[in-house]
Amino acid sequence: MNIILLGPPGAGKGTQAARLVAGRGLVQLSTGDMLRAAVAAGSEVGRKAKTVMEAGQLVSDEIVTGVVSERLDQPDVRKGVIFDGFPRTLAQAEALDRLLAEKGMRLDAVVEMRVDDSLLLGRIETRAAETGGTRADDNAETLKNRLGVYHEQTAPLIAYYGGTGTLRTVDGSASIEEVSARIAEVLDAL
Ligand code: ADP
Repeated sequence: MNIILLGPPGAGKGTQAARLVAGRGLVQLSTGDMLRAAVAAGSEVGRKAKTVMEAGQLVSDEIVTGVVSERLDQPDVRKGVIFDGFPRTLAQAEALDRLLAEKGMRLDAVVEMRVDDSLLLGRIETRAAETGGTRADDNAETLKNRLGVYHEQTAPLIAYYGGTGTLRTVDGSASIEEVSARIAEVLDAL
């Protein structure tokens, strides 16, 4: 199965994706991880993405879609993909529809992890303190920007996927175990 984990920064998408990789043998496709790897490698994509990412803004749809398209050509994606951090704009969602059609893949579900901003701001501050600069974009100020970007550019995807009938919403404010259990219920019911 191929699914999207949708939710604001700090919602726990990466944590739940890792559990789905371990539990269901799916492949995690995190555009954040892929872009950080490009920055570390100093590739052309990395050079273009670096400053944008540090400011908490979005890398261009064209660059991100190109990176995802290449990744989808690797054979391991046949095990099933968890899209984590992609799509993040309506243009990316439309591009993903085209890519999946081209590659003969289908989207089984979009799992929205819903968490209130007030809770996220607390989590964000804890994470910024804990990681202490291991990620250039992990400071409270940038993370607040990213939350604003989420509401403006990514939250419209909730209506988009609501319209296609693929959207499933879980309460992301519960414990990691509880959220995993809710996601498992959703996926088992597909
Ligand atoms: P999170 O901490 O929420 O998991 P990510 O690691 O997914 O964040 O993303 C980190 C940064 O990488 C974003 O703030 C953005 O600059 C860039 N990025 C990741 N995915 C995308 C995308 N799909 N479109 C545009 N920019 C992206």
